[in-house]
Amino acid sequence: MRDAMILNAGRQKYKGNIHSHSIRSDGEYTVEQMREAYRTKDYDFMCLSDHEIYFQSDAYDTEAFIMLDGYEMACEMERETTWQQYHLHGLLDRSLLAEMPFQHDEVHAKPDYESLDTIQRLIDEMRSKGNLVIMNHPEWSKNREEDLLKLEGYAAIEIYNHQSEIQEAVGYGVSYWDYVLKWGKRVNAIAADDAHGGPTDMAVSEFYGGWIVVESERLGQQAIIDAIKAGQYYSSNGPKIYDLRIENNRLKVVCSPVRSIRFITFPNNGLAEMDPTGVNITEAEYFIQNDEQYVRVECVDACGKVAWSNPIYPKYELQLQEEL
Ligand SMILES: [Zn+2]
Ligand SMILES: [Zn+2]
Repeated sequence: MRDAMILNAGRQKYKGNIHSHSIRSDGEYTVEQMREAYRTKDYDFMCLSDHEIYFQSDAYDTEAFIMLDGYEMACEMERETTWQQYHLHGLLDRSLLAEMPFQHDEVHAKPDYESLDTIQRLIDEMRSKGNLVIMNHPEWSKNREEDLLKLEGYAAIEIYNHQSEIQEAVGYGVSYWDYVLKWGKRVNAIAADDAHGGPTDMAVSEFYGGWIVVESERLGQQAIIDAIKAGQYYSSNGPKIYDLRIENNRLKVVCSPVRSIRFITFPNNGLAEMDPTGVNITEAEYFIQNDEQYVRVECVDACGKVAWSNPIYPKYELQLQEEL
């Protein structure tokens, strides 16, 4: 596989929570209170993804902190009978050049669910309105893996939703991600809070539990969106990834001290690196075979907290090179 710099320890990184709610929908705090909750905790950006009501404003931005434009859109099925629903995150991507993007405070009415086509049409509509679409909390939503495989046009899956984890033990969506990756989809991951309210200053709260760290030359709406689309970020609920690169056919990672560094691949089995004495490690590498559908990295600390890289696709990259 060709050498590539995915994350560079020497470049600027920005921390953000892209999933949260305010009194504009079912949250407890005002826009200003939510903004201050993150701004004062060394976050660089956030998104107020209120339900079915779009946020599109620069009024709360400063040079050091910005609020991404977007919303969260639901399609509710009869949960009693199907046990599932869909929540989709839209982030304003101006590079899509939408003719009629949502305005600030514009409400997007929920569609009535008829079949999976309803969800596909919703994704298509959100994209036509200029949104990067993320599949939110599939474990909480009780989505079916095969349905996520059929749906097209979403860029990432929310694989860690902090509020769902601490309240209902359904925060991790990693198995959905691996399922679609195994069968050929190329989608990234997102970790986020989905904070609605409650205390912000307790050991366990809806705040500060899941985030992404984006590598970008500058802090700005489109710069962050472009980096997310390019996969230049990692997701975490604890550890940090400092550097991730492909060099001499090796995937090399440098991270904060963790108990294990895991390389997850398909169809081959991957590699778990640990120190046999149990001390923490901060780097590891994986020799790329070039027949992997994907390879992704998890850095897992002693408390079980994880930093997730986005996947690389050796087999796909090889096919691309052969076609050139
Ligand atoms: Zn949701
Ligand atoms: Zn939410």
